[in-house]
Amino acid sequence: MNPVIVVGAGPVGLSAALALRAQGLPVVLLEADPEDRERPGSRALFVHRETLRTLDDMCPGLAAEITSYGRTWHTRRTLYRGREVYARTFPPPSGLPPFTSLRQVDTERFLRAACERAGVEFGWATRIVGVDTSPSGVTLVGEDGQEWNAKYVVAADGARSTVRRALDIAMEGVRGEGFHVVVDVADVPDAELPLERVFHYEHPGVGGRSVMRVPFTGGFQVDLQCRDDDPEEAYGTEDAVREWLPGVVGEGYADRILWVSTYRFLRKVAASFTDPHRRVLLVGEAAHLFPPFGARGMNSGIADAAAAAQAVAAGTADAVAGFADVRRAAGLFNSEAAGVALDHLRPRRRIVRLRQRAAAALAPVLPSCGSWLEHAPYGPRGGAPAVAGGKY
Ligand SMILES: Cc1cc2nc3c(=O)[nH]c(=O)nc-3n(C[C@H](O)[C@H](O)[C@H](O)COP(=O)(O)OP(=O)(O)OC[C@H]3O[C@@H](n4cnc5c(N)ncnc54)[C@H](O)[C@@H]3O)c2cc1C
Repeated sequence: MNPVIVVGAGPVGLSAALALRAQGLPVVLLEADPEDRERPGSRALFVHRETLRTLDDMCPGLAAEITSYGRTWHTRRTLYRGREVYARTFPPPSGLPPFTSLRQVDTERFLRAACERAGVEFGWATRIVGVDTSPSGVTLVGEDGQEWNAKYVVAADGARSTVRRALDIAMEGVRGEGFHVVVDVADVPDAELPLERVFHYEHPGVGGRSVMRVPFTGGFQVDLQCRDDDPEEAYGTEDAVREWLPGVVGEGYADRILWVSTYRFLRKVAASFTDPHRRVLLVGEAAHLFPPFGARGMNSGIADAAAAAQAVAAGTADAVAGFADVRRAAGLFNSEAAGVALDHLRPRRRIVRLRQRAAAALAPVLPSCGSWLEHAPYGPRGGAPAVAGGKY
């Protein structure tokens, strides 16, 4: 049997390969980077329970492996200009936790090991530069001219997807104003910050900019929301972070910065998740881009991967068309949801900011106001068949 080819060994490509193996199909995974590459930063920290279940269906025991390494906090806290407006501690769940938090590089480590155990064949340092589809299959061309033929290709080659571009499939959507700075900081051993997710509106320690802190195994991620007219070099370099970080988490972390990056809110969905011959299936960031708030990127990418493997196993044009329709609908749902979160986080209308201020003032007597401030930054949750939801 000709193997199915997956392009890209990010979390979504690895999941797709694992899902295809679970369907009993041979898989070759082609990745542009070398085998010993180093992946940057924490990035997608948050793995939802639905995603854990999906991964466990692909590889029984994988969810337990990931959750025993990741961290689950039971307290969520929201502050407004230095004053707490919401705090809730949930009892530890029995069974699978509602989520687990670990750096994307660690999630990828678990996925890769599972792929190796499942017999996925890897082609490292193999960059795909050309794609040709026909009613009977796909030909891929590598940088060195080598060709691969397959009946189906799952394209998980990320935001700048060569496969998507070669098929001339457009990304449709918008790019937000302003930028965020994201910083990974290592814990101080024996003096770890409390295990809780904290969102702080208009933090007085950093000139009234909003900040979120999310724990992961070994440290925490800080997300600083800059103003539209903030110069990137004033907040987004490692030197700049050393200046503002103490105002947010206290002294003692300047030498513990692991990674600094900036990003802008992108909400984009591919015009189609497949080619006209229904032979290539786009998944993950090759098919959609969402902002980190709401944790929709990797989580919905893994749902794409599972759906793609089912369609390939069914082996019909209708199944692939069904995959493309359902996952694109999920992408559009997630894009809308991220837009709602964005309207809250970066309000264009003064009334939204006034409403937030009023809710903060009323929160001590009206808990629903604190609850709204707590939940709104992540957008609406749920919405089958999408995988969506807030950071707990
Ligand atoms: C700051 C930040 C925070 C985030 N937080 C979250 C979060 O909390 N939760 C969440 O769900 N998501 C989050 N995300 C998004 C998440 O990181 C992405 O959704 C995820 O990396 C996408 O995975 P992917 O496998 O689709 O693509 P990628 O991880 O980009 O992997 C694509 C792979 O394809 C390879 N490749 C590219 N081109 C080729 C080619 N031509 N040939 C062969 N191989 C190729 C690349 O080398 C790469 O290995 C965050 C992102 C950022 C930047």
